[in-house]
Amino acid sequence: MSNKLVLVLNCGSSSLKFAVINPITGHKMINGLAECFNLPDARIKWSVSEKKQAMPLPANSAHCAAILYIVQEIINTKQGLSDQFIAVGHRVVHGGEKFTQSVIIDETVIESIENCTSLAPLHNPAALLGIKAAQTAFPTLSQIAVFDTAFHQTIPAEAFMYALPQSLYKEHAVRRYGMHGTSHLFVTREAAKLLNKPIEETNVITAHLGNGGSVTAVKNGKSVDTSMGMTPLAGIVMGTRCGDIDAGIIEYLISRCGYSLEGVMDLLQKQSGLLGLSGISSDCREIEEASDAGHEGATLALRIFSYRLAKYIAGYSVPLGRIDAIVFTGGIGENSDHIRRCTLEMLSIFGYKVDKEKNCATRFGKSGVITAQDSPIAMVIATNEEWVIAQDCAELVVK
Ligand code: ADP
Repeated sequence: MSNKLVLVLNCGSSSLKFAVINPITGHKMINGLAECFNLPDARIKWSVSEKKQAMPLPANSAHCAAILYIVQEIINTKQGLSDQFIAVGHRVVHGGEKFTQSVIIDETVIESIENCTSLAPLHNPAALLGIKAAQTAFPTLSQIAVFDTAFHQTIPAEAFMYALPQSLYKEHAVRRYGMHGTSHLFVTREAAKLLNKPIEETNVITAHLGNGGSVTAVKNGKSVDTSMGMTPLAGIVMGTRCGDIDAGIIEYLISRCGYSLEGVMDLLQKQSGLLGLSGISSDCREIEEASDAGHEGATLALRIFSYRLAKYIAGYSVPLGRIDAIVFTGGIGENSDHIRRCTLEMLSIFGYKVDKEKNCATRFGKSGVITAQDSPIAMVIATNEEWVIAQDCAELVVK
C-alpha cells in the first residue's frame, strides 16, 4: 500500500487544483493549479518535489484540456507513475442531503450530483466535467466523489432550518448545507491530536478563512452548525462575497437602485466582501499593506472582517457549551497574524489572550497554539483538503 497514490482533482468554475498524493503520509508528489479557464491567458503551473514549472494552455482552455495536459504532459512523462494510482478523488462542492460521506462514482452518483446542480450552479457542473475527463483518461481506476457538504450533514434541524415556511425545505430542499467540510474535518482531527483528546470528545470552532470562508461549530468531533448556508454566499465577510446581509436589501436594490436580479447577484458574489469594503482588493495581504500605509477603507475592511468573524465564534458557544479551542486555517487563517489578533481581542470576554510572539511566528504552513499560557486555547492548523480526499479514496478502494 505504501507506494500507492491518489490523483486528487478539485475543479472550480474557472480553475482546477490537482495533486498526486500519498494517502498514508499526505506527501504531495505533484501539486498544481490550472487557471484562467475560457480566457486567452489560460495557464497551468505545478511543482514536482518543490521544483516549480509553468506553461500556457491553448487560449480558452477549460477543464478537459487542462486534465488532458495533466495526464499527458505531467503524469505520463514520469515513467510508472500512473501505475501507482489507486483512485482519482474528486472534490464535489454540493452533495445536498443525499451524500453524508464519500462514495465511489457510478452512473447513479453522477445523476445525483447533477440533481444537486441547482444548489451549486457554478461548482457542480465543473466537478462533473472533471469526473468525465478523468473517467476517459483513467477508465480502469475507481473515481471517488468527496463532498464539501458531507461533514455538515450532522447539523441538527434547529441549526439547518431557515425561518421560512417548512414547505420550502420539504419540497425545494431550502436549508443550510455548509461548505469547506473536508477542511473543517481535517483541522478538527489535527486539533484533537494537538489537544491530546479523542476526536469524539473534542469541541472546537474552526475558522476556514480563504478567498471564501466559513466558521464551523464542532461538538464531539461532529459539525453542529456552520456559517455558510444553502449557498456559499452566507456567513462571514469573504474576499468578494458579502456574507450575511438583510435579505430586504435585494428588493431595495432592484426596486430603488436600478439593479437587475443578475446584477444584484454579481454585486453580492463578486464585488462585495473585502473588495467592496476596501475598494482596492479582495486579497487580504494587499489590504493589510494598504492599511499599514494609512488607507482608511482597508483598515475598516479588516476591522469588519474580524468583527463578523468574532461574532460567529462567540455565537457558537451556544451549541458547544465548552470550547476546547478556536482553530484558524485557510490562507488568511494560516498567515494573517493581524486578523487572528484582532479577532481574539474582540473575544476577550471569553478570556482569550494572544501570545504576540507565537502569533507572529505561526505562519507560512506552521501549525501551533497562538494564545498565552493563562488563556483559553486558539491555534493555527495548516489545512490539507487533498489529504482528506486521498484518505477517503484509499479507504473506499481497499474496502
Ligand atoms: P482559496 O479559498 O482560493 O483556496 P486561500 O486559502 O489560498 O484561498 O486564501 C487566500 C487568502 O489568503 C487571500 O486573501 C490572501 O491574501 C490570504 N493570504 C495569503 N497569505 C497571506 C499573508 N501572508 N498574510 C495575509 N493574508 C494572506
